[in-house]
Amino acid sequence: MNRSVAKIALSAATYHIDKPYDYLIPSSDTELALPGVRVMVPFGRGNKKIEGVILSVVTESQYGKLKSIASFVDEKPLLNDENIKLAFWMSDRFFCTVYDALRVMLPAKMSPKRKIKEREYKKAADSEIILNDEQNKVYNELEKLLDNKKPEAALLYGITGSGKTQVYLKLIEKTLQLGKSAIVLVPEIALTPQTVKIFSSHFGQAVAVFHSALATGQRHDEWTRIHSGEVRVVIGTRSAVFAPLSDIGLIVIDEEQEHTYKSESSPRYHAREIAKYRVTKSNALLLLSSATPSVDSMYAAKTGKYKLFHLLNRYNEKGLPPVLIADMKTELANGNGTTISSVLRSELEKNLSSGEQSILFINRRGTSPLVACGECGYTFKCRNCSVSMTYHSANGRLLCHYCGFSLKTSDNCPECSGKLKFIGAGTQKIEAELLDIFPGTGIIRMDADTTTRKDSHDKLLSSFRKKEAQILLGTQMVTKGLDFENVTLVGVLSADLSLYMSDYRANEKSFSLITQVVGRSGRGEKPGRAVIQTFTPGHKVISLASKQDYDGFYESEIALRKALGSPPVNDLIAVNIISPDESKVIKSSVAIKNALQNYFRGIKEIKLLGPAPAVVSKVSNKYRYRLLINCANNKKVRETIAHTVREFMRDSLCRGVTVFADADTYD
Ligand code: ADP
Ligand code: ZN
Ligand code: ZN
Repeated sequence: MNRSVAKIALSAATYHIDKPYDYLIPSSDTELALPGVRVMVPFGRGNKKIEGVILSVVTESQYGKLKSIASFVDEKPLLNDENIKLAFWMSDRFFCTVYDALRVMLPAKMSPKRKIKEREYKKAADSEIILNDEQNKVYNELEKLLDNKKPEAALLYGITGSGKTQVYLKLIEKTLQLGKSAIVLVPEIALTPQTVKIFSSHFGQAVAVFHSALATGQRHDEWTRIHSGEVRVVIGTRSAVFAPLSDIGLIVIDEEQEHTYKSESSPRYHAREIAKYRVTKSNALLLLSSATPSVDSMYAAKTGKYKLFHLLNRYNEKGLPPVLIADMKTELANGNGTTISSVLRSELEKNLSSGEQSILFINRRGTSPLVACGECGYTFKCRNCSVSMTYHSANGRLLCHYCGFSLKTSDNCPECSGKLKFIGAGTQKIEAELLDIFPGTGIIRMDADTTTRKDSHDKLLSSFRKKEAQILLGTQMVTKGLDFENVTLVGVLSADLSLYMSDYRANEKSFSLITQVVGRSGRGEKPGRAVIQTFTPGHKVISLASKQDYDGFYESEIALRKALGSPPVNDLIAVNIISPDESKVIKSSVAIKNALQNYFRGIKEIKLLGPAPAVVSKVSNKYRYRLLINCANNKKVRETIAHTVREFMRDSLCRGVTVFADADTYD
């Protein structure tokens, strides 16, 4: 049989023209032309050489004159049939091209002759895992699921400090004994150096670490070690869910509620969905884990889709830290105009004199998020984006956090020369305030501005561990994962910031953030406590978070979601429309809405919302609108949406407009 035609997924194929393209296989290269091999092929009128991946090889084509494959990138296939099937599934599930889906499964491109660097993961001498009773009970149940030869999904709800990591370790040990491999996903590698160390000290060379911040060469090396079978345990961020391991027995998603598991560029996948696909194919166990499970996952557990397990006690047998609420309205009334309440100030004083350490969290970097004229009310908006610019005292400039545009500040208004007011506080201003109140105190500031250099996270955290500073002040980087036994005080400087966002997940995000950061306190022998500062102490989410009452939070939140029909009760699929020309964006949005309305006419379970400007409606001079489709996300609905988007992309109205659909949209 003469297998002379390759069907190829092309990198240059946009969503509406995406399909397997036929190319002739040069007769000298038939052995090389296997599914999963990357090739270069001529494309379009100019026959520009572009990359593609062979999907299958067939004997003939229905098309007349075919172009030939120009060259081969790989000597052997890097992807297998399972990968190719997954890519087709992703294309349907996440509205992406097949090539985009394959791309995230591939290693970085390197010259094949490059020598792989030796790794230096050393196994500790003493690495036996001894679980306490509560951990052991949960472990025993999970072990049964690991070994029952069918796909399983479980949710582990364990309070902060209960020792979830120890349970993963023991499960991985068992997985390896069964001759299988494991993936552990963490929200962000830079923030979890301790977790990586724990795993590598237990499993030595069998561990690979996989995340997007790796240099190209490192990424290629780790991929190759995994692909060759040398590695049996992969730890990494979102894209590690595609790690080319064979015989997967276990996938753990730590802090499963984190938004970093959802990709915001094509392919717009959620790692949890890919994990479900993979455990289903290999009869493995998916373990979702958190101290504050997402409402989605808890709902799935309560409705029987996942098995639910609890760890209700801290390993150190201490209670969760008590929480003091500081009412910032009262502080203001009492003449305290700073960001540090009297309550927090006196708790900080106690820690400074006892030598115990404190973590302070504010969800905002820079000095002042708003600069306004006291006379005429002028504010500094970015010229490219619909956001106000943040003042950074470090360099005396106003900066847009969306596009990076910056301006030099002066003391006076550019319109009326009135005196400017610097409103609100970010990390830089708070650092200055703290030094005013406690001169000479060692403070480590951790935010996007102090962590640009490689390894800077690691350096700052290890300096804090060595007690070189008494206070760690930072953005969400300090809220999770950290395990410092000498930290006995945590301060949430403004609990209100995330609460009043126009986002159906605002409550959930705030509850989770507050609980996570409070959970950093009192993890060792010494008891801890936390202070939450707020202008709305009566807000239900604040009071539930201060009691760390997850169950109460879940009940009130799911009731709300049911009333509104928002996820997880229904699904939301977004169609995003972006262009530098706002009138075009509006016209396009309306056209797409009309088309969808036509297709979905008479189906009352499907509701179309919008079009409306996105929360930040202009970024880098592009206007962003979106339509939301509230529905049950099934194949039929997705096909209709995909068809509508593709049809629009062929329309002349689409010139200069970017359109894409996004399943599992996050906000
Ligand atoms: P979580 O991830 O649930 O917040 P960790 O896994 O970080 O909790 O555990 C909290 C602390 O208790 C860590 O310092 C950990 O080393 C310790 N710990 C928990 N379980 C055990 C165990 N079985 N044996 C020894 N130390 C444990
Ligand atoms: Zn003015
Ligand atoms: Zn901007």
